[in-house]
Amino acid sequence: MDVELVSIGDELLLGFTIDTNAAFFAREAAALGIRVVRRSTVGDGAEQIAAGVREALDRTGAVITSGGLGPTADDLTKPSIAALFGRGMYRDEAIVDSLRARWKARGWPGELPAANTMQAMIPEGATILENRHGSAPGIWLEDARGRWVAMLPGVPREFRGMTQDTLLPRIAARGAAGRVIRSRTLRTTGIAESAIADALGPYAKDPAGVALAYLPGWEGVDLRLTVRDVDAVEADALLGAAAALVREKVGHWVYGEDDADLVALVLEALRARGMRIGVAESCTGGMLGMRLTAIPGSSDVVVGGLIAYDNAVKVAQLGVRESTLTAHGAVSEETAREMATGARARLGVEVAVSITGVAGPGGGTPEKPVGTFCVGVDVRGEVRSLRTSGVGDRHEVRQRATQAALNLVRKALEG
Ligand code: AMP
Ligand code: MG
Repeated sequence: MDVELVSIGDELLLGFTIDTNAAFFAREAAALGIRVVRRSTVGDGAEQIAAGVREALDRTGAVITSGGLGPTADDLTKPSIAALFGRGMYRDEAIVDSLRARWKARGWPGELPAANTMQAMIPEGATILENRHGSAPGIWLEDARGRWVAMLPGVPREFRGMTQDTLLPRIAARGAAGRVIRSRTLRTTGIAESAIADALGPYAKDPAGVALAYLPGWEGVDLRLTVRDVDAVEADALLGAAAALVREKVGHWVYGEDDADLVALVLEALRARGMRIGVAESCTGGMLGMRLTAIPGSSDVVVGGLIAYDNAVKVAQLGVRESTLTAHGAVSEETAREMATGARARLGVEVAVSITGVAGPGGGTPEKPVGTFCVGVDVRGEVRSLRTSGVGDRHEVRQRATQAALNLVRKALEG
């Protein structure tokens, strides 16, 4: 079943409010096989609303609007769409009563303002969609050809609540029963999007007939597999086959699936081995320590760390040799390895991890351009290191460096 979304509000067009309602709806709907095929945003004017909804109705015939159901003069969704359907409006006294009761129950002073009774104005022939999350009810309006518009309030809490308990069950009941849209995400890190596509070869586009999307970010590249319009059992079988194909080619870089968090995985791996970890950070200045300690319960595994930003601290506190710094520079695998080994000894831990790099925007050289970083890990005296580079601004380069360091720890623990 295909639907369109029309988000209504000047604040959305101005960029002051992000359209989280549309994103929420699309995600929830997919699980029921309801596909959002187009999204548009219009301003609060009656003309704009009517034009946006008319076009969506002509194209798809199934439209959900968000916003403009409030009690003020800029809330024109209902009258504008009622006019489009050639319907008048009436005042629903039962709704007025419930609005009055709500006003009293809240302990607000005085009587219900006249403006609020706007929310009780209903297009003729409409179905009222109960709103248990706020005052403005939703509206379902359908024409003789079965084309429909569902109007929901814009307040995110109300939109989300009504989507789940009223709207989606209603749409699903009309659509092809039992059909789903389902996704499975393989999370990779340490490999570029293009290199993944190369490695996948003939499976780069749609392994096992399943659509594959590449979603790059500082954490790595997420590979999202999606199937549509099949029943749940078939969906899982198709996704399973596709995931196996992808893992066969790029499994080396896959650290988890769906909501997997690399930090949580590393902490779990350490805990399972009875090991504790310490950090030595130069260019990330504590960011890795922050990520490690952001996970509740990390204190049984994370010991602490050193921010060794200046070379003098690397030497005095971590025991990095002057000769190493002179010969290879502060941003080198050699320095990263000595930082890790020094931290392990100083902190008395089984595992220590280090980061040193050029976060930018200044400080780059032809041999070590901005974004170059080296990470090291020492697991009970066995040392590994990696030199790599990350794109983006200073913040993103630093984030990428923490991810590379965590991944090196993960790999070292796996052996
Ligand atoms: P409205 O129902 O248009 O009066 O919107 C009420 C409030 O909900 C507005 O102040 C916005 O901050 C918020 N809002 C409206 N539309 C959206 C949307 N599509 N996504 C997120 N928030 C929204
Ligand atoms: Mg509005």
